[in-house]
This record gives sequence, C-alpha cells and structure tokens, in this order.
Amino acid sequence: MTKAFASQADLDDKKITFEQLSAHCWAYTAEGDPNSGVIIGDKFIMVSDATATPAMARDLIARIRSVSDKPIKYVLLTHYHAVRVLGASAFAAEGATEVIASQGTLDLIVERGQQDMQSEMERFPRLFRNAESVPGLTWPTLVIGGGEPARGEVPGKLTLDLGGVKVQVWHPGPGHTRGDTIAWIEEEKVLFSGDLVEYEAGVYTGDAHLEEWPATLEALRALKAEAIVPGRGEAMKGQAAVNQAIAYTQRWVETLYAAAREAAAAGMDLKASMAHTRKSMDPLFGHVFIYEHCLPFDVSRAYDEARGIKNPRIWTAERDKEMWASLQA
Ligand SMILES: [Zn+2]
Repeated sequence: MTKAFASQADLDDKKITFEQLSAHCWAYTAEGDPNSGVIIGDKFIMVSDATATPAMARDLIARIRSVSDKPIKYVLLTHYHAVRVLGASAFAAEGATEVIASQGTLDLIVERGQQDMQSEMERFPRLFRNAESVPGLTWPTLVIGGGEPARGEVPGKLTLDLGGVKVQVWHPGPGHTRGDTIAWIEEEKVLFSGDLVEYEAGVYTGDAHLEEWPATLEALRALKAEAIVPGRGEAMKGQAAVNQAIAYTQRWVETLYAAAREAAAAGMDLKASMAHTRKSMDPLFGHVFIYEHCLPFDVSRAYDEARGIKNPRIWTAERDKEMWASLQA
C-alpha cells in the first residue's frame, strides 16, 4: 500500500490551547501543530511565529484580544519555514510595524522562500487552508546578526522593551535551519525556541545542520529556562520539564545522524539508509505526531550531511515527490 504523500491525509483539526506561562508570556499550542508565542507588555505585544496563513493568524489575534488591547508591534520569525511566516500580514492590521528575523533567515527567504512555500503547501494542506489569503513571501523589516558585536555582547543580540518586560532576540547557532532565532525573557525565564526544540512531536530536519544542532541545544540548556514554548508540542513548565524537551530533541537529532553516518560509511544508498535509520528511530519515536511525515525528509538530509553536503539542498514540490516515491518503491 502506498502511503499518502507527507501529510496530505491529515485533515483532523487540532485543539488549540492559549495558556499563560508567566506575568507577560503566553503559549499558543496545538497538539503538535506549529506553535506561536506571545509576550504582552504594558505598551506593546510581540508574537513569536506568525502561523501559516493570515486566516489562521486571525485566530491567534482573537486569543490575544481576549486578554489585551495593546498594539502587536513586533512579529518575530524564528526561521523561514512557510508554516511559521506566511500569516504575518494579518498582524499589520493590529499595529505590527516590525517583522524581525536573523540575517541567516533573510538569506534563506531570498534563496529558497518561494520553493519552500510551494513545497510546504503541498506537504500539509490542512495547515494552509485559506492559502489564498497569503499575499506572498514575508519579508523582515528588522534584521539581526548582520553586523559586528559590541564588546561583551552576544553577536547580533537585540533587546526590546515592551513596557514592563524586556525580550532578548538572537541566533544561538545553526540547528533546525541555518538562521534559527529565539526569544528569551530573562526576568521570567521563559524561552520561545521555535523549531530548535520540539516535544513529543516529529522533529523536522529536512533543512537542518545536524552536526551543529546539539551544541546549539546546549546553549539553550545553559539559559536554565523555567518554561519553554517549543516549535511543536505542549508548553513545558519547570526546569526539569524544559530539559526533558531539549533532551528529546537532542536524542532525535543524534540518533538520526548516527544512523546516517553508519549508512554512509557502509556505502548504503538512500533507501537502505532509510531502512537502517528506522531500526533505531522507530522504537524511540514511531508513536509521535508527524513521525512518518518527517522521517523521509529527515533521512534524506541526514544522509546528505553524512556524505559531506554542508548546505541543505533546496526542497521543491517536485523533489519532495520524487524522494517520497523513491523511498516507498
Ligand atoms: Zn521549521
């Protein structure tokens, strides 16, 4: 039997939870679908990740409006993936004047944003319902990490005062993509990690830097967060739970990449690498949401990186389906 491509057969709605984590921080989570974060200051609001379409963003805005009428001034793109960024235009009507991203993310939008949009829309149609409301690619207006750091500062770190709460935004290192960016509320010890951290959901690594990802996770662990909104999965509270989410992601990345290195060293082709990877990944992660969606893309990227391809190859709608067919055949 042929499995439906990616998540084309996944049409069941998820239950959305909008939950307060600290004095100013909120989590918008959806049972394994892409999460967003909200930081509500006395003057301004920041949203971390803009959802997949303006129509979907309007649900997030409605949740925000149930607790605050302040302008949503900042929209942070934690990375370039379409499910995170294409809803951004909905926030302009709510006062958003700045769309923030790292230099690495801007470079990726320029290089492959268009292909990614097409590819993601076909992979996961449920997340792109009302795709006609997307006006095009989302372009950042405030780009961090391009210049030289001042002495003693983390390179490219931006601190924004929302009124009674400060948000630090920076690129802690490559991982899920080359440009991953986080929001960190130090006073409240709340971390918005984007897809650098997931919990009990598939960890998509199709555009990842697997060798470097664990070190980036260590940088996040060193923050000693007391709460985290991961890219997918429920918000976690308490340092032990935060570390559990980080460890979950690390285990996925390391298990996947170890299998790919073994496959490459043994001269296996991609299909054999997939079978080899399943031996270690299925027992650990086979039960989690979108595991079967992620695995073919993950194995493809891990196999490439293990064979020395440093920069992830661009996924197109055509490449997606060719790869899928070749691994099913
Ligand atoms: Zn992503």
